[in-house]
Amino acid sequence: MEKKIPYKIYLSEDELPRDWYNVRADMKIKPAPLLNPATKEPMTIDELSQVFCRELALQELDNDTKYFPIPDEILSFYKMYRPSPLVRAYFLEKALDTPAKIYYKFEGNNTSGSHKLNSAIAQAYYAKKQGLRGVTTETGAGQWGTALSMACSYFDLDCKVYMVKVSYEQKPFRREVMRTYGADVTPSPSDTTKVGREILERFPGTNGSLGCAISEAVEKAVSTDGYRYVLGSVLSQVLLHQSVIGLEAMTACDKYGIKPDIIIGCAGGGSNLGGLISPFMGRKLRGEADYRFIAVEPASCPSLTRGKYTYDFCDTGKVCPLQKMYTLGSQFMPSPNHAGGLRYHGMSSILSELYDEGLMEARSVEQTSVFEAAVQFAKVEGTLPAPESSHAIRAAIDEALECKKTGEEKTILFGLTGTGYFDMVAYQKYNDGEMSDYIPTDEEINKSLSAINI
Ligand SMILES: *Cc1c(COP(=O)(O)O)cnc(C)c1O
Repeated sequence: MEKKIPYKIYLSEDELPRDWYNVRADMKIKPAPLLNPATKEPMTIDELSQVFCRELALQELDNDTKYFPIPDEILSFYKMYRPSPLVRAYFLEKALDTPAKIYYKFEGNNTSGSHKLNSAIAQAYYAKKQGLRGVTTETGAGQWGTALSMACSYFDLDCKVYMVKVSYEQKPFRREVMRTYGADVTPSPSDTTKVGREILERFPGTNGSLGCAISEAVEKAVSTDGYRYVLGSVLSQVLLHQSVIGLEAMTACDKYGIKPDIIIGCAGGGSNLGGLISPFMGRKLRGEADYRFIAVEPASCPSLTRGKYTYDFCDTGKVCPLQKMYTLGSQFMPSPNHAGGLRYHGMSSILSELYDEGLMEARSVEQTSVFEAAVQFAKVEGTLPAPESSHAIRAAIDEALECKKTGEEKTILFGLTGTGYFDMVAYQKYNDGEMSDYIPTDEEINKSLSAINI
């Protein structure tokens, strides 16, 4: 029986998840192991612990433990901004005149403005517990760097952020939020690392990319005493932490008898989508329920829809472990579109495997149609969405319009990962009619795919 659904569903404190869920435990075919680029052998825990905190390295390699208890310190931090609401998009449904029922899980209710804080606080906690001095990382659009700055300041850790140059310039206020929380922010590529200097020499005037900022952050971490590197997406440990999104959403759905037919998320490195779908995917893998899962990526950086499933480097500088994933090639330099958080050449190995097995679908959407959906959503639902999140809105609206044609009353759930207040340059371009849709040619993609050389 479906109960009357409130506009916003909030869980009470005692309904909040106390464990993260590891979807790998329910996957019949596990994601391929990370390889050491030098030996091509699976990374061991000791090797991985030189780059990542040991506890996080253990989580990274664990394909079998289904539930990881969330430490109390993290649970109490989560209580500052969680649970996040599951919202019934009544106003959007009305505006679209669709029989579909649309829900979104809203992760933008914290200062970092996105879901990334869910993993940032976990990674900072394990770094502190290990007695480290600080961490380094990269940030694309700035959400991850902001989230990590907040988490590090909470645990009194140093935080060095390499920020993709185009964002550093486009988003001075994001940079200032990070500095307010005590982080040290460097535009990437920079001359503070060997790999940064090499990239600057090969691609003078480059706007930077996530892959290249990662290389710089890793180099800094492994060459600085008492530091480790942390990553805001792509890795399996990050999907594990982000499962808190899906677990809350599933509890809220179950409580009100809501059965999603379609679950949609935007996909950059795959962490919010992976986190949102994990527990639902678990049910599908165990044969308990069925759902359609849709990953939405930008047409300008289409790793699932036009990439290749193969081992590749996670970073331009080729210093990270090799991961088997859908990739456009680590040398792929995406055009500077406005969804900075989705400009990554690869994809989570978990999502890559699920997609390869046909358990998840993927589609790519163009920038202007994404902003059209963003504006439509902002006007009726009140929240100004992040450009990244708006990829999911686009697909949710398209599915709802399809229901309008067929008359089907499907239930659609999507992840609204964040707010777009720091993305006003992008909105300005859209409002001024100056936004363009850049789609890489086959030739460009083939060139970067054929450069994959491991
Ligand atoms: C970083 C970011 C994304 C994309 O990252 P995933 O790891 O794919 O989730 C999506 N939305 C927002 C608001 C982000 O900040």
